[in-house]
Amino acid sequence: QYLDAIAKTDSTVCSYITVDGEQALAQARAVDARIAAGETLGPLAGVPLAIKDNICTSGTRTTAGSQILRDYVPTFDATAVSRLRGAGAVFLGKTNMDEFGMGSSTENSSYKPTRNPWDAERVPGGSSGGSAAAVAAHECAAALGSDTGGSIRQPAHFCGIVGLKPTYGRVSRYGLISYASSLDCIGPMAHTVEDAALLLGGIAGGDSHDATSSGRPAVDYAAGLASGLAAGGSRPLAGKRIGLVAQTMGEGVAPAIDAAVRAAARHLESLGATVEEVSLPTFGQGLPAYYVLALSEASSNLSRYDGVRYGARSPAAADLAALFSGSRGEGLGGEVKRRILMGTYALSAGYYDAYYKRAQQVRTLVQQEMVAALGAGRCDALLSPVAPSAAYRLGEKSSDPLAMYKGDLMTVNVNLAGLPALVLPTGFVPASAEGGVELPIGLQLVGRAFDEAGLLGLGYAYE
Ligand code: GLN
Repeated sequence: QYLDAIAKTDSTVCSYITVDGEQALAQARAVDARIAAGETLGPLAGVPLAIKDNICTSGTRTTAGSQILRDYVPTFDATAVSRLRGAGAVFLGKTNMDEFGMGSSTENSSYKPTRNPWDAERVPGGSSGGSAAAVAAHECAAALGSDTGGSIRQPAHFCGIVGLKPTYGRVSRYGLISYASSLDCIGPMAHTVEDAALLLGGIAGGDSHDATSSGRPAVDYAAGLASGLAAGGSRPLAGKRIGLVAQTMGEGVAPAIDAAVRAAARHLESLGATVEEVSLPTFGQGLPAYYVLALSEASSNLSRYDGVRYGARSPAAADLAALFSGSRGEGLGGEVKRRILMGTYALSAGYYDAYYKRAQQVRTLVQQEMVAALGAGRCDALLSPVAPSAAYRLGEKSSDPLAMYKGDLMTVNVNLAGLPALVLPTGFVPASAEGGVELPIGLQLVGRAFDEAGLLGLGYAYE
């Protein structure tokens, strides 16, 4: 059924870079056989999923949206993928993305742009735009994305689905093609909070292959949802304190987004929560710090694509220098090159203290401020918009990188702080305001480190 949906829809939406129908059907039959043999399987068995194309899948091409990996077929599964495979999940294919996760609209894919299923003239967000569009267009039941500075959450907002960026270290990064290793997280994108919880339960937990993964035991995120709700009666969020982040409201935010988040605050109150405005004075410093740190890490991580050890090799090179520059010149796209240049500059001798070190200091401030706001006796979660606007038109920002970067203001601090954040659909931009088509709006709830269960509980009650 999902393969039929892909055949019907994907020539328009372009969610997938690779579809592997034969493999999907073989996996589905294998699940049938296990059930027929009397095995009791978990909730992910037989569930057709899409996987972002920067997450390695054994035997299935994994490009990270880049030409330099156009022929890369991993010989191993990312840990998140091998866990899902073990649980009997079915993999439909690999989804489109901004090259190496560098972008906010999926227009930086070197393969093709993905279109927003709500309006094909608009972007699905990014960089996990393919995963978000595939879920929204019912081309998969749910998907994995990755989030370095908002790449799960902003496309979830643009496409009207649920997206969860887990705490840094909650899900192993082994087999995730690196963008900025201190910020990268794999997480679920789904139709409902319950689906996201099931998927998180399938991928979370420590991993000896990733030294930054946490050994804290993962909990059964889905099982806790219904009991939490039942216990609260008609006011399931009684006693919960939610902080509405003052710096993310008002000026610079589209009126429909501001209104939707304020309406969400009232809905949370009707469920028993207390919503109060909180101020995070260093909030605006996060974005420039993020772009210094993410690009610095990227410039280092991407140095491996030299055409020798990794990446497609330039065919014509006469000597070693030409081999490096030819392979990288031909294989990497414009935005990736821009970021490697900026990151290399920020790490250069003489500039390191002014940019990289300073950005690290800002990162610490931003983190301390958020963690304090989420401290005991203060907020259980922080509420904000996901982005200043709903989905914009294809091409609208692609020639203005700075405008594109500014759209990440409300998501990047969460990665700097390593915290978990959940995006939930919460309303629409009315059709009249946006040229005839209703566009989805999401809200963002940021939680305490490793409290994905609490965050999902809030989302489940909200839904
Ligand atoms: N849009 C942000 C960037 O381009 C975040 C991307 C991401 O989370 N992968 O860096």
